[in-house]
Amino acid sequence: MDPQPRDIVVARPEGLYCPAGDFFIDPWRPVAQALVTHAHGDHLRPGHGRYLTSEAGRHVVTQRVGAVDLQTLAYGDTITHNGVKISFHPAGHVLGSAQIRLEHGGQVWVVSGDYKTGPDATCAPFEPVRCDVFVTESTFGLPVFRWAPQQDVFDSINAWWADNAAAGRASIVHAYSFGKAQRVLSGLDPAIGTIVVHGAVAAMDEAYARSGVVLPATKSVLDATPAELRRCLVVAPPSAQGSAWLKRFGDYSDAFASGWMLLRGARRRRNVDRGFILSDHADWPGLLEAIAASGAPRVIVTHGYVEPLVRHLAEQGLQSGAFKTEYGDDEDVKDTGEAAPAEST
Ligand SMILES: [Zn+2]
Ligand SMILES: [Zn+2]
Repeated sequence: MDPQPRDIVVARPEGLYCPAGDFFIDPWRPVAQALVTHAHGDHLRPGHGRYLTSEAGRHVVTQRVGAVDLQTLAYGDTITHNGVKISFHPAGHVLGSAQIRLEHGGQVWVVSGDYKTGPDATCAPFEPVRCDVFVTESTFGLPVFRWAPQQDVFDSINAWWADNAAAGRASIVHAYSFGKAQRVLSGLDPAIGTIVVHGAVAAMDEAYARSGVVLPATKSVLDATPAELRRCLVVAPPSAQGSAWLKRFGDYSDAFASGWMLLRGARRRRNVDRGFILSDHADWPGLLEAIAASGAPRVIVTHGYVEPLVRHLAEQGLQSGAFKTEYGDDEDVKDTGEAAPAEST
């Protein structure tokens, strides 16, 4: 979208930039001062001079980029930087995820990063923030994307696990190691059997524990008995699919947890027995609901299905446009448990 003279945020080659405050939000190239909406690899990159993120995100950010120069701000607290008032508000996407509210010259902008409006026991719920300009993602910005109630998905996962356990088979759920893995864990019924996590998931679980998020007890594969291994549920990152690590479980059934599992082609490409449709992003109604709740007459779309959402909003009479960004897709397959840039496919 063509910048307007008083715009609080503009797109620069390094990332989204606030000229008045002289800082970047989720920049993809190294910069002096980065405000970070959340710790997924495409939004949180290594190499910046200073970082500012939500207090709730402190431990997951540190887990992913190590001991950087990090300042945190509790949700709802305000600081002023070069005359720009900055506050963080829950985005409901993953632990620590925030919408960043910027106020300057009588205008309010909200950069929402990634968000979802549905429930999630592992992070604070999305909080609508009124603004003049709302900067939004559009990862699942097509009308076909509509999520079933979270509990229905958890019930399906638990029923599938119980069936496999009864047949003496392990159940492997592939889920992104930060966010999705913990949300899956939060919905499991530990009465069915032992829960085993891959090392990449265990490392993030520790950061959740340090942040005060309680998840079901889990074991490493080395600590589980042979009898447990035949009946357990395993949460592993997508990168573990087809790896030697999975051989320890013998005969198993596998599944993938992602919003993309709604699409038959995506299920086929993943080549797993089951696809559980579970997303940490807003579905189409969720996007429209969040945009309406912001009250913003102007909306700028950053990534995902950008054009369909921009067009839809324009048809609704909003001023809509897009920022060109390098944000990727944290629901996809290239998760190695490291804070590396995600790639879109
Ligand atoms: Zn994300
Ligand atoms: Zn993203």
